[in-house]
Order: sequence, then structure tokens, then C-alpha cells
Amino acid sequence: MRAIVVGSGVFGLTAALEFRARGHLVTLCDPGPVPHPLAESTDISKIVRLDYGADADYAALGEVALGGWRRRNADAPLFHGTGVAVANDAERVTTDAQERALRAFVDASLPALADAPIVHRRLCVYGDTADGHFWIARHPTRENLVVATGGSGHGFKFAPALGALIADIALGEPHPLAAKFRWRPELANLAGPLRGDAARAATDQ
Ligand SMILES: Cc1cc2nc3c(=O)[nH]c(=O)nc-3n(C[C@H](O)[C@H](O)[C@H](O)COP(=O)(O)OP(=O)(O)OC[C@H]3O[C@@H](n4cnc5c(N)ncnc54)[C@H](O)[C@@H]3O)c2cc1C
Repeated sequence: MRAIVVGSGVFGLTAALEFRARGHLVTLCDPGPVPHPLAESTDISKIVRLDYGADADYAALGEVALGGWRRRNADAPLFHGTGVAVANDAERVTTDAQERALRAFVDASLPALADAPIVHRRLCVYGDTADGHFWIARHPTRENLVVATGGSGHGFKFAPALGALIADIALGEPHPLAAKFRWRPELANLAGPLRGDAARAATDQ
């Protein structure tokens, strides 16, 4: 099979590597550079946590991913059990309005830092689904189009498990999480600006 993967964030890259490992011919597209400075995956550090409250699906997927991170350390020590997995650094542009909002937040929340200089600026892009769950599914009408997205602020940690998950669904192999991450147009009918956030809600409890 020939796979064209559009987007070289953690979803696209891990899928491309998995397709190649399974013997498929892969073309990876991205405006670049990779890692792209505006990509959600691009960061100086990411948190790997397995605490998903009652959601056993993510906890199980996290266990698979954690094993992968640890094995990966044999080649490059990216994963540190004390807290951070290093990705990449990049400068991003923030606006004056965003800086004012940040100042207002710091003034109200951490008044001791009210006059502290800002030493680094980053713009965060979140690709959220309405329910906070990933969206990894074949398009219902466009044959051969598979969408793998919706990291919803918690996708990076699963990197070592994502490729196989995406490849299984793309290739029509059975996967226990295929139903959870299915095509779900019903989310468009939910009310409110942020209608559900399964992942973050679990940590708030
Ligand atoms: C500030 C922040 C902190 C986070 N912290 C954590 C954390 O601690 N732990 C965790 O597990 N997750 C975390 N996440 C979530 C995680 O980073 C994302 O879920 C994950 O990186 C999403 O990956 P992605 O491949 O879907 O998207 P992206 O990484 O955004 O990749 C998308 C790619 O598509 C490319 N692209 C865009 N348009 C086109 C086009 N037209 N054609 C081709 N390519 C295109 C872009 O250049 C980019 O490379 C965080 C996210 C943010 C924003």
C-alpha cells in the first residue's frame, strides 16, 4: 500500500513510522520545518501521566506508551521519570492582547510576580475535540481518507502507542479503541463552547 501522511506532528510521524515498519510506502507532507514551530507537538517538555480517573482506556494506552518511552531511552534519553520528556524548542509570536491577558492573570493569581519581566514567549495551539477524545477514523464517504487528530491537550504522551493505533484503524485491523475514537458527527450538536473535556477533567478531580 502507498500511504500519504499529511502533517508531521506526533500523530502523523508515528503513523508514518508504523506504516513503514509494516512494509508500506510512505510519503510524509508538512510545510516544515519539522518539528514545525507552530505544531502542538513542538515543545521543550511534555508531561506523561497515567492518571485518567475512571477512564481505563487511556490508562491502558498510557501503560503501552510508557513502556515505549522507556525502551526508546536506550537510543536517546528523552523520557525522565521525574517529570519531562524533551521534544524541541521553538520561538513563537504572541500578540499584545495575549500579553495583557497574561499580565492580568499573573497580577490576580501570583501578585509577587506582577512586575517580573517576561523572559520567554510561546503561543500554544490546541487541537481539541468537543469531548476531549482523539478522532482517529476513516472518513465516512471519502474512500481511503483517514483522519487522526484531536489530541485535545493530552496526545503527546501516547506517542509510542499512537502509530500502531492509527495504522490499525487506517488499515482496517481490529483495535479495542477504534469505537472510542470513531467518526462522531453527533459532537457537533452538543451545547456550549467547550462541551466536554474528558482528559483534563480527569486531572481536575
Ligand atoms: C501547550 C501544550 C502543552 C501540551 N502538553 C502536553 C503534555 O504535557 N502531555 C501530552 O501528552 N500532551 C500535551 N499536549 C498535547 C499534544 O502536544 C498534542 O495532543 C499533540 O502534539 C498533537 O499532535 P498532532 O500531530 O495532532 O498535531 P501537531 O503537532 O500540531 O502537528 C500537525 C502538523 O501538521 C502540519 N500541517 C498543518 N497544516 C498542514 C497542511 N495543510 N499540510 C501539511 N501539513 C500541515 C503542521 O505543520 C504540523 O507539523 C500539549 C499541547 C499544547 C499545545
